[in-house]
Amino acid sequence: MSAIPTNLNQILKTSSEYAAQNMRTLAVFDLDSTLFNVSTRTQKILSEFAELHKVDRLKGVEVKHEDWGIKEAVLRAGFTIENDLELLKSLRDFWSERFFTSEYLHYDVPYLGAISFVQDLADVGCEIKYLTGRDHTRMRKGTVEVLKKWGFPFAEENLYLKPNKEQEDELFKHEWFKKLNHSEYKKIFFFENEPVNVNAIIESCPEVEIIFLDTTHARKQEVTAPLYKIKHFGRE
Ligand SMILES: [Mg+2]
Repeated sequence: MSAIPTNLNQILKTSSEYAAQNMRTLAVFDLDSTLFNVSTRTQKILSEFAELHKVDRLKGVEVKHEDWGIKEAVLRAGFTIENDLELLKSLRDFWSERFFTSEYLHYDVPYLGAISFVQDLADVGCEIKYLTGRDHTRMRKGTVEVLKKWGFPFAEENLYLKPNKEQEDELFKHEWFKKLNHSEYKKIFFFENEPVNVNAIIESCPEVEIIFLDTTHARKQEVTAPLYKIKHFGRE
């Protein structure tokens, strides 16, 4: 693996220097919990459930950006598996019926500095691609709308979603990187928050420089490799 870049400015500088020598660079961005904070999506869904089912105890529940799904938020609010099982099951179903839909992507908010960083990277000549575990059928429409709405550099052909929701994200991303012609690029950067995906790409494509978004993840694995880690795209 190559040296860890010092910061986001270094990535811009590297891309710019290669572009000046007519060498291509590529930055691949995951979306959920990498460019977008999705806790506001979950917050909206919880509020709707609370309103619809008149669950006053749920109304003030805060979803934190480091939460994964709904579990941590409801446990923090005092709900328990023992006492509230039926309610929590029903909330979980309500949440998953909405969370993975185009409509609710509009409640996501980009992380600090994300839009300007991706734009600056595009401006210095780095190619931009979005590689997401969102699935094509349920989420492509909203994904396109939201990327455009927030002003991310966008072209249809640079957005890659899973062809079907059953496929594992890890496998989808692994195969995508395998198909990519790496020799066309002097440098490839991959921005990702999920350790399972990060570890799969470290293993299969060691030449890719991974930037780990230390935001939130599924708690299935940890990142142990010495990667550059950031919590957002804010720059000095
Ligand atoms: Mg993600």
